[in-house]
Amino acid sequence: MLLSKLLLPTLKDAPKEAEVISHKLMLRAGLVRKVASGIYTWLPLGLKVLRKIENIVREEMDASGAQEVLMPMVQPKELWNETNRWEKMGPELLRIKDRHERDFCLGPTHEEVITDLIRNNVKSYKELPLNIYQIQTKFRDEVRPRYGVMRGREFLMKDSYSFNIDEACLQSTYLTMRNTYKNILERIGLDYKIVAADSGAIGGDASEEFHVLAETGEDTIAISSESEFAINTELLLKEGEDISSLEGKPSPDGKGTIQIKKGIEVGHIFKLGKVYAEDMKANVLNNEGKASTLHMGCYGVGVSRLVAAAIEQNNDDKGIIWPHSISPFDINIIAIGYEKDQQIAEASLKLYKDLQEMGYDVLLDDRKDGYGTKMKDSELIGVPLNIVIGKQYIETNEVELKSRSGDSSLNDISNLKTILDFFK
Ligand code: ATP
Ligand code: MG
Repeated sequence: MLLSKLLLPTLKDAPKEAEVISHKLMLRAGLVRKVASGIYTWLPLGLKVLRKIENIVREEMDASGAQEVLMPMVQPKELWNETNRWEKMGPELLRIKDRHERDFCLGPTHEEVITDLIRNNVKSYKELPLNIYQIQTKFRDEVRPRYGVMRGREFLMKDSYSFNIDEACLQSTYLTMRNTYKNILERIGLDYKIVAADSGAIGGDASEEFHVLAETGEDTIAISSESEFAINTELLLKEGEDISSLEGKPSPDGKGTIQIKKGIEVGHIFKLGKVYAEDMKANVLNNEGKASTLHMGCYGVGVSRLVAAAIEQNNDDKGIIWPHSISPFDINIIAIGYEKDQQIAEASLKLYKDLQEMGYDVLLDDRKDGYGTKMKDSELIGVPLNIVIGKQYIETNEVELKSRSGDSSLNDISNLKTILDFFK
């Protein structure tokens, strides 16, 4: 992409409404713009990041054996009546009427629609287990949308639903999803914790959340200094425990002491059991030919929230520091004197094409501005590697390789191997 052609409205200062660093930087780096409270347009740079996360999620879901579908955002009231959630969900469920005065809602989640699909189309235990997912826009009329896309009203979620013949089979799919979520967060490169959680409005038997650790997290989690033990204090409060008495105390599993941390919930996995299947009469024939109620699991990843969570964990006073896996671009070629010097323009364009052919996602800053402005913008948008091509190139055939983390070296332009090494 040539920067001169890119819709990249960067801002020097963040608008006052932005309270947390990710929201500030998403506005300043031209990733999103607000349309209404909790509702955003994704600009080209933001969309590239969103798509990169989406692709990682899709690849890992496919590798786990799950199958992708796309369900509608608009859902009929009748389905929600079957589980009594038309009433239970309260004002978070955005209700609409069509021209015939029929009731619909904008889907905040899809248990009803998917269970309806499965009960109508799957008849035998032989067709199970099934794990069906989608990556789709959700709407929740949140009481307090805030922190930009972190808590939006319209947001992108990967949601999946498993259908299993019995509890043991559900447990096995649940563990596969648990592992899949670990792979996703490790591939993105985030520091996270798996936390025992409250099942909330979704319901069910047991659930765990995946939290990206960050000061601005809305959730308070108690974690052991030595072991995997971690619990959302929301769950403790529900059970009447006293959080303050936990700090520094021995962990309940006997390993290490309890520390209180803040987390951003980016994923949630549930063993639903038979709740939805019973309400909606979702049965299959078992191996004795008898109708057997399905056991369900559901598993969500906040795809758009992950963009903000990644920034909360990776930034400095200059801007975003993208984990390479989800950076909008791998490399930014900063061409100084592009418009005046044909030699520079030609060399930059050749480098741009060569790197693209090598499979990199490359940005070429061909604008008229000087080094300072260009480097500032690059640091703000967080590209991992800059290649500065200017006077030095004319004199010695050298370019400067400058990483977002500050390392810098001069290299002969023909030596692209050094660039490859950077990404190892
Ligand atoms: P929260 O406790 O943050 O309100 P939730 O428990 O209601 O979330 P789930 O129903 O578990 O959310 O949804 C699955 C995932 O979708 C969450 O783990 C989160 O990453 C994401 N998510 C939920 N609500 C929002 C929102 N308002 N904006 C952005 N992402 C969201
Ligand atoms: Mg949740």
